Amino acid sequence: MTRRDAIRVIGGGAAMVGLGALAGLKAAEAAPAAGTGATRQPFVLPKLGYAYDGLEPHIDALTMEIHHSKHHAAYIKNANKALEGHPALLGMTAEEILGGLPSVEEPLRSTLRNNVGGHVNHSFFWTILSPRGGGAPAGELAEAIIRDFGSFEAMRTKVNEAAMKRFGSGWAWLSLRAGKLSVHSTANQDSPLSEGAVPVIGIDVWEHAYYLKHQNLRADYVEAFWKAVDWEQAGRNYAAARA
Ligand code: MN
Repeated sequence: MTRRDAIRVIGGGAAMVGLGALAGLKAAEAAPAAGTGATRQPFVLPKLGYAYDGLEPHIDALTMEIHHSKHHAAYIKNANKALEGHPALLGMTAEEILGGLPSVEEPLRSTLRNNVGGHVNHSFFWTILSPRGGGAPAGELAEAIIRDFGSFEAMRTKVNEAAMKRFGSGWAWLSLRAGKLSVHSTANQDSPLSEGAVPVIGIDVWEHAYYLKHQNLRADYVEAFWKAVDWEQAGRNYAAARA
């Protein structure tokens, strides 16, 4: 039985699958970690590496506090609750669940896409922001950006476009996909991991990420985001994605 089959069985609720079998399958098919590493259950709210006001003036303290302690916490609560009724899924990391979503049956698939996706996306997002952020990448990531986009500015322009063109809620990403850097966007809390891409940086363009400070002006928030990006962490994400 492949892990995909196991998930299908679990999603249908038709049979119990031994955790030992799942563990063996996981080792063979583990999805790549997204910056923060494999996220084990039950999911818990990660501590930020800086204070809520640490990203001021670029991202304001109240937005950070509500975003982290309310929005992210809600995704975690809902994800843990959804998984309670599916004991065989409890041995899987968040990343493994997202990598296997197409095989999960509805309505569980949508619940996991939204809430496990929300947990993984936000856990990642906090780590690529820093009070010492901004500027530009160095080293292998900088070289890869020039190789795949021509220049740092050309990449930034593409990310800005992806962020602005995302209608409604979602994310814009710089990801590694099949050995190349790629700028793309996902809707809602859909994860790049579910489409075989590993994020290097990502920007949350849900209104909850900027409305208190910027109201309807998403472009102002996107501009502020660049001043808070932790390029050292992005470089580590790129190196991990290539490994
Ligand atoms: Mn968010």
